[in-house]
Amino acid sequence: MAQHVSFFDQVNRNFERAAALTSHPRGLLDTIKNCNSVYHFTFPLERDNGHVEVIHAWRAEHSHHKLPTKGGIRYSLDVSEDEVMALAALMTYKCAVVDAPFGGAKGGIRIDSNAYNKHELERITRRYTFELVKKNFIGPGIDVPAPDFGTGAREMAWIVDTYTALANDKLEGAACVTGKPIAQGGIRGREEATGRGVAFVTREVCSVEADMTSLGLSKGIRGKRVIVQGLGNVGSYTATFLQEMEATIVGLLEFDGALYDPKGLDAAAIVKQWRDQPRREKSIHKLVLPESVQKLSNAAEGLELECDILIPAALENQITAANAPRIQARIIVEGANGPVTSDASEMLDQRGVLVVPDHYANAGGVLVSYFEWLKNLAHVRFGRMERRFEEQAYQRILNSIGARTGKSFTEDEMKALAHGADEADLVKSGLEDTMGPAYHNLRKIRAEKKVDLRTAAFIEAIDKIAICYQDLGIFP
Ligand code: NAD
Repeated sequence: MAQHVSFFDQVNRNFERAAALTSHPRGLLDTIKNCNSVYHFTFPLERDNGHVEVIHAWRAEHSHHKLPTKGGIRYSLDVSEDEVMALAALMTYKCAVVDAPFGGAKGGIRIDSNAYNKHELERITRRYTFELVKKNFIGPGIDVPAPDFGTGAREMAWIVDTYTALANDKLEGAACVTGKPIAQGGIRGREEATGRGVAFVTREVCSVEADMTSLGLSKGIRGKRVIVQGLGNVGSYTATFLQEMEATIVGLLEFDGALYDPKGLDAAAIVKQWRDQPRREKSIHKLVLPESVQKLSNAAEGLELECDILIPAALENQITAANAPRIQARIIVEGANGPVTSDASEMLDQRGVLVVPDHYANAGGVLVSYFEWLKNLAHVRFGRMERRFEEQAYQRILNSIGARTGKSFTEDEMKALAHGADEADLVKSGLEDTMGPAYHNLRKIRAEKKVDLRTAAFIEAIDKIAICYQDLGIFP
């Protein structure tokens, strides 16, 4: 029987594989690898029916080499100390890979969010925040949470409201959490950032002809058959953006089943129907779909269906040594954190499957969270001061071209060509500008060290974090 390896141990196995290929001293590697602090706390919740329950919650700060630390908060029955430490560690490496200047953190509350009504969830979230404030585990310069599995902008609004009511740094309070609604200091493009980033990454991977040829695939995202697991924040936007990029979404998987159509599903329409279903009544079997769509009641089997690209974007430990041999995809892009176990990753690599690791592939969320944090500290929307100036400058150039050539531009052409960048444009541009080049950097390390992409991404992260400690003069 296969031995159970904890999530944090799996992350550390991957770390060690990369560490062995660096020249850093053991003490430095151990300093990077270990989790700096974990806070486990409990509090009572009086439910609306009068029963009192004890809620278990955690916040882990994996690395303080840069401050604040940063990482999501998830609501799930699987939350444990091991899970938050593993996810916090992944955040450290993720921030390093995409140059987001944070240490890694993660929080979680062990609840099934669907089992509580809105008022109960609000009380849980506010109490969680209160406990973090009490122990100095939250703050714009200390530790900045964000949404994750089971949480979203609504929970972030409760957090910022509670924090600013309690904390002394009222002026900077909005920067205590990211992923907020726009009116609470959020940034345009944060909600879709992780999925957009995963889609950019997938397109970039498919753009490298040499890699595609060795995988037996053609160059380009167009027509690539994609299966996405999870229709939550990450999965729904990933599928929608990939469809816009002309990939063929052949499969969509949720907790209670799978949808499959080799000719392609209308991902945008399915996502809309899924979002419209009431939170506690969601079921893939209630969706109204064309007859050609096959429905499977076993969600896990959906991972093994025929496709070119598989994007697990729901939970960790979805592809293990048990099902890895049956995976048909040639490329796996880890939309979720830790969806492929370290054993399975090795097996897939040996079979020539390209696995694009989580701490690069889903880093779009933390990158745009970084932009949101900067916006909150600057107290000004990106593009606010220069957008109009840019537009007027472009208009002057176009008018001058028109005057010299005798051919003036139409109103529509003027609008399109003289568009000054607003916040959404700048966020999208910043995201694309980081995710694309980062991939080519990882490919370079992969080729130099003759390793898989995951190990390359760990080497990149370790080297960047090591510099911070070396600069302190602690290690040679
Ligand atoms: P979410 O709660 O919005 O969505 C998760 C979805 O997965 C839900 O629709 C849920 O029903 C579905 N699901 C649960 N079990 C499933 C199963 N067995 N098979 C198929 N679907 C299942 O969560 P999210 O924010 O989209 O996060 C998903 C993953 O992405 C997590 O691993 C998270 O840590 C990671 N991630 C999220 C972000 C972010 O910005 N939200 C950023 C980086 C990484």
